[in-house]
Amino acid sequence: MNEMQWDLSQLVESTDPAYIVDRLEKMVAEAGAMNERYKGKIEGLDAAGLFKLLESRDEFMLKYEGAAMYCNLLYSANSTDPVAQQLNDAMRRATLRAGQQLAFMDLELGKLLASRPELVQAPELEEFRHLLERVRMRVPHQLSEAEERLAMSKDQNGIDAWSQLQGDWLSTRSFRITIDGEEKELPYGQIIGLYEDPRRDVRKEANRVVYDTLGKDEILWSTALRSVCADHIQMCAWRKYPSVLTQSLIANDVEEGAVRALMSTIERNVGVYQRYLALKAKLMGLPKLGNWDIIAPLPDDPGRKYSWSEARKNVVDAYSRFDPQFGEYAGDMHERRHIDAEVRRGKVSGAFCATWFDGRSAYVLQSFNGLVGDVYTQAHELGHAIHAYLGSRAQRPSNYEIGSCIAECGSTFGELLLTEHLLSISPSKEEKRAVLCKVLDEFGMAAFQVSARYFFEHSMYDAINAGRFLDGQTIAGLWTAARDKIYGDAVEWLPEMKWEWTMKLHYYIPNYRFYNYPYVFAQLFVFAMYRLYLEQGEAFVPKIKALLSAGSSRSPGELANELGFDISSEEFWQKGIDQAEEFIRQLESLQ
Ligand SMILES: [Zn+2]
Repeated sequence: MNEMQWDLSQLVESTDPAYIVDRLEKMVAEAGAMNERYKGKIEGLDAAGLFKLLESRDEFMLKYEGAAMYCNLLYSANSTDPVAQQLNDAMRRATLRAGQQLAFMDLELGKLLASRPELVQAPELEEFRHLLERVRMRVPHQLSEAEERLAMSKDQNGIDAWSQLQGDWLSTRSFRITIDGEEKELPYGQIIGLYEDPRRDVRKEANRVVYDTLGKDEILWSTALRSVCADHIQMCAWRKYPSVLTQSLIANDVEEGAVRALMSTIERNVGVYQRYLALKAKLMGLPKLGNWDIIAPLPDDPGRKYSWSEARKNVVDAYSRFDPQFGEYAGDMHERRHIDAEVRRGKVSGAFCATWFDGRSAYVLQSFNGLVGDVYTQAHELGHAIHAYLGSRAQRPSNYEIGSCIAECGSTFGELLLTEHLLSISPSKEEKRAVLCKVLDEFGMAAFQVSARYFFEHSMYDAINAGRFLDGQTIAGLWTAARDKIYGDAVEWLPEMKWEWTMKLHYYIPNYRFYNYPYVFAQLFVFAMYRLYLEQGEAFVPKIKALLSAGSSRSPGELANELGFDISSEEFWQKGIDQAEEFIRQLESLQ
């Protein structure tokens, strides 16, 4: 038994592939039965009938969650295994078929709430109130059934194709780079790993090569982005969205005032980030950072290695110091082998945490190489797991569909707890500096660099509305303007970096405009919470537990209110910046 491998047998009664396939077929059949029972009848339901419908949808989800997860995780752990391939394929087909059978529900639910909005307040439906409020918010922007179908098919053959093309281009291109006199052809996934290489010239050359190659096809990217943005403006008119932000505000369950307060706090505080960049340049012995140094390790980073058991101890200790229950949940994930950390061929790259709602637990995947970054990844993913433990104990599955603004709360908070713990046990100045830089690098990227992307996206819609034609050079100009708003003259940029916007896949995904600000939101929100914790100590613990337990039963704004915060005020967001400044001060004192 390998303690770095998942035990997936807990998810299902039997791991016999025939049994799993049978479960999947039962899932499709049951979705068909629900279709027969409810299709065309939802508009006639009263409060009690609606409760029953929503309850049976939750029960359906819980009943088949284990089998579907089993297939998905088996494949993530070993995508080259033929059994895993077959099961995963069977699961995808079954999920799609079940989804098609149940697709009528949301549409009919919308119609029901449009004709009888008072149902949202019905006492019988109290548990589902926020879910219903969110459905009702979408109603005024829904098109007719035929138009919705047309819009879907327009995206499928339009923006979907741009998005597919962008992904295929990146994954099939090779990038030619010379390292130590040796010429290499590297795929995109590999060359971007060199951005964090300890050798400065290698980092610089990797950046130059990637963006030079991307820039050569500027006509492709500008045509794609121009169409995506023009399509969005057109769809906003069709759907009667008052602003280009509305679609994302509804999806993220936040109000425009909160986003405005957040972004203007960022704008007012670019100096704080620039102060960190200047300090990092000093620590690296440079007059100024090049763009290839922004996330680089410090030259005197001891590069300390952690064994698996050391990583486990550090992460569980970090959580236990905060709260015994957090520590217990993190320990349970290890104890029951819900973390797959072994490095092996055929395993998907990256890291994730999958909530196992029915089991009131979660499964985490990472590839553990013993670096401090891997310890952070574990703390991050176990933060998601703790969120899942708390949420699944307190909520129904339909009240645990957490939007991007709140989804990263447990995980980012966990990273800060690990930081506190590592700083307290790191023996040397160099190690402490490496830990602080890690936190501040990530904060800088998520809060500030991503904000540049928000300003950039806004400027493209403004330009189109002003009648400007977005060719490659024009878009590059908008990008560098947004970027410079954040970085000022704190960084030296390679000229090729004007093509940085071309690689961001989010820009090309259908119905995913303004993917960016939730990252900024989450980062500042968690930093603000952490500050509150430092101020209030133990009294803060039940507050964050309540927030994580609430799932999606309340909006991020309401959850913040319960912590005593008003997310539409800049004063709240400033708290997050203040905490980052505190880390900068600590780093300054370690010189
Ligand atoms: Zn995460």
